[in-house]
Amino acid sequence: MINLDKVSRTYKEKNGTDFVALNQISLNVKKGTIHGLIGPNGAGKSTTMKILSTLLLPSSGTVTMKGIELQSNLNAVRQDINFIYGGERDLYWRLTARENLEYFSALYSLKGVEQKEKIKELLELVQLTDVANKKVETYSKGMKQRLQIARGLLNNPRILLLDEPTIGLDRQSAEEFKNIIRHLAANGTTILFTSHYLEEVEDLSDEITIISRGEIVASGTAQELRSNI
Ligand code: ADP
Ligand code: ADP
Repeated sequence: MINLDKVSRTYKEKNGTDFVALNQISLNVKKGTIHGLIGPNGAGKSTTMKILSTLLLPSSGTVTMKGIELQSNLNAVRQDINFIYGGERDLYWRLTARENLEYFSALYSLKGVEQKEKIKELLELVQLTDVANKKVETYSKGMKQRLQIARGLLNNPRILLLDEPTIGLDRQSAEEFKNIIRHLAANGTTILFTSHYLEEVEDLSDEITIISRGEIVASGTAQELRSNI
């Protein structure tokens, strides 16, 4: 579903030299699986996610999603992915959860009965139905993060990219969040997420890729990785 073949990305530094943030990364995420990308700060996780969400182009290499080469058909790929950053950015705090979802669904031309139904379904999925008419500023971090997920699902993406999705969440909120992710994968959504926490990545991922200094260090199931250490 997601395939990176020898993808590199170079940034120009202020002094004019090139900095290689990603060096020939190859990665394969199968449909309906949860894939965790783990690595220390500066490893290249965000760069990878930005390339996959089409915010950034690779300097070289090939990215394919659903069999479509990203560089050749950005729009076709964009319709099927959604990218959710960690934290509470991109929500309107003075609006209610329902109003936020109404606002964002307009971006996907979702209107009328279809819009109402979709919002109802998503509020239920992320367990915010009871507080849907309360302002987001009254929400806990976990509630805001669940609302972010709902927002990310408005366009029925087949691929969901999550950058540090559980950052700042307490244990219970993180658990609730992970259950939503598992539910989505069980229904066929392909999920790639980044994290600093090995324990969390092991717990949630079908497959794990460890990245460091722009290179893949290891890749496999949690069990495979453990037996190789
Ligand atoms: P991670 O998400 O794993 O922390 P990033 O993908 O954000 O890693 O960054 C990888 C490397 O690329 C880091 O060394 C970072 O400093 C560098 N980098 C990221 N963005 C830029 C940029 N816009 N210009 C120059 N260097 C960058
Ligand atoms: P306004 O635009 O009138 O400031 P907002 O609803 O955007 O109203 O903000 C309400 C409060 O919440 C403000 O104090 C603002 O700084 C804070 N806030 C709003 N959005 C965010 C956000 N994404 N991240 C952090 N703080 C935010």
